[in-house]
Amino acid sequence: MTVARPDLPAGSHDPVSAESASPAARLQAALDEQRAAFARQPNPTAAERDRWLATLLSVVLDHKQRFVEAISADFGNRSAHETLGAEVMVTAAGIRYLRQHLKEWMAVEPRHISLLFAPARGEVRYQPKGVIGVISPWNYPLQLALVPVATALAAGNRVLLKPSELSPATSALMQELLHAAFPRDLVQVVTGGPDVGAAFAGLKLDHLMYTGSTHVGRLVMLAAAQNLVPVTLELGGKSPAIVHPDAPFKVAVERVAFGKVLNAGQTCVAPDYALVPRAMEARFVDALAARFAEMLPTLATNRDYTSIINERHRARVAGLVEDARAKGARVREVNPASEDLTGSGKVAPTILQGVSDDMEVMHEEIFGPVLPVVPYDTLDDAIAYVNARPRPLALYYFDTNAGRVDKVMSATHSGGACVNDVALHVGQDDLPFGGIGPSGLGAYHGREGFLAFSHAKSVFHQRRLRLTQLFNPPYGATIDAILKVLVG
Ligand code: NAD
Repeated sequence: MTVARPDLPAGSHDPVSAESASPAARLQAALDEQRAAFARQPNPTAAERDRWLATLLSVVLDHKQRFVEAISADFGNRSAHETLGAEVMVTAAGIRYLRQHLKEWMAVEPRHISLLFAPARGEVRYQPKGVIGVISPWNYPLQLALVPVATALAAGNRVLLKPSELSPATSALMQELLHAAFPRDLVQVVTGGPDVGAAFAGLKLDHLMYTGSTHVGRLVMLAAAQNLVPVTLELGGKSPAIVHPDAPFKVAVERVAFGKVLNAGQTCVAPDYALVPRAMEARFVDALAARFAEMLPTLATNRDYTSIINERHRARVAGLVEDARAKGARVREVNPASEDLTGSGKVAPTILQGVSDDMEVMHEEIFGPVLPVVPYDTLDDAIAYVNARPRPLALYYFDTNAGRVDKVMSATHSGGACVNDVALHVGQDDLPFGGIGPSGLGAYHGREGFLAFSHAKSVFHQRRLRLTQLFNPPYGATIDAILKVLVG
């Protein structure tokens, strides 16, 4: 599918490529350019927004193979199937869903007005906010950049995107393709590291969406607070998977294993650790190890198994395992062909038992293919374990008993949850995606994303005559009688 490129405005230039300017000055110039364009077109029609989304969709689909290659170059190896499924497919589905529902979400909504204020009427209008800033991470560098961009465009905004410096090939490709497809005053990509990120977060944007670590999320919110810029923060955390003794055992093992192997565990909604009934622990660990081996009979050159993004992160994950081992954890690496993984960028799927709270692996988000298995005695104990820790981005519960499912869903807090699965809630366009507390603030995807990037303006339409006319000084017997009826 090919969609015509929207025309560049006459005399358009590239303020961010003016090499001489400081990052802050270049970013400010980009923001000013988009602001001016927004002022010229503050409320794009549904048809215009749909054209933008069609263009974005064609950027993703027409160049999917280049994205597969760029992302793989960034990781060392990224499974092509993972890129096509978890990035291209999810992004394309998200854009199609926005296109399907845009008109309905843009419609002016009549709202209820209390009888006292008759015959006035009320409505909510969803207005574009203006210029939306998006700061995105490296782990799903396409999806986590372009779904926010699509959502911001659907809501009628202009977008500045700052992708991650840790996925430079993908960032450069997005910059090339988006700049070829859109005028810069509509969509502009600025590249750079934490210094550019910090300057970006200090801009007087109309909304800032950040996806990344909780640590940097705090800095982003602090910077945005200086300008009272509203934020959506999509952060991380330690997402538990709780397995009930009566859960379909094989299903639980297979799905937890899938969540840990996908992108080699470098997924914000990967199951971070598993809570399993004490009596089932040994059987669960054996079955999990067997499942890892079945999925990944070899590791080092296996194209289906994604590498760790860089040496720093590989060493970080290895360090978590070594710290746990040194403090008494039992470590089971699943390396079926006994390969030497040195220099391969791969980390073998690893199961930890006998973990305790003094180990770093039980505090830090693992973000790699390492799964601590924590035994529990009663379901209430498992719930208490989760509730004693920071609220996670996701929680997974394996059980088929509706009463217990309801109990776990109501007794725990997490950004989202899956029952009898992991991670797939993120792919549902009609489910808001976001964290709670340290795992995030606000949500997007589908309608919730449209709402996040729109201003819901309340409009109260008054008529010539109004009942409230009576409420004027000098107050007298009539208003006294009315107030007596209304408030006693
Ligand atoms: P990161 O925080 O290191 O980087 C993310 C982005 O922030 C990058 O573009 C980076 O350049 C930028 N940045 C760095 N310092 C900055 C600063 N001071 N001010 C502004 N921007 C700055 O995160 P990461 O390592 O790229 O991503 C991994 C983390 O992201 C994990 O914790 C993971 O759970 C989380 N994550 C969350 C979601 C979600 O949707 N909730 C999705 C993916 C990843």
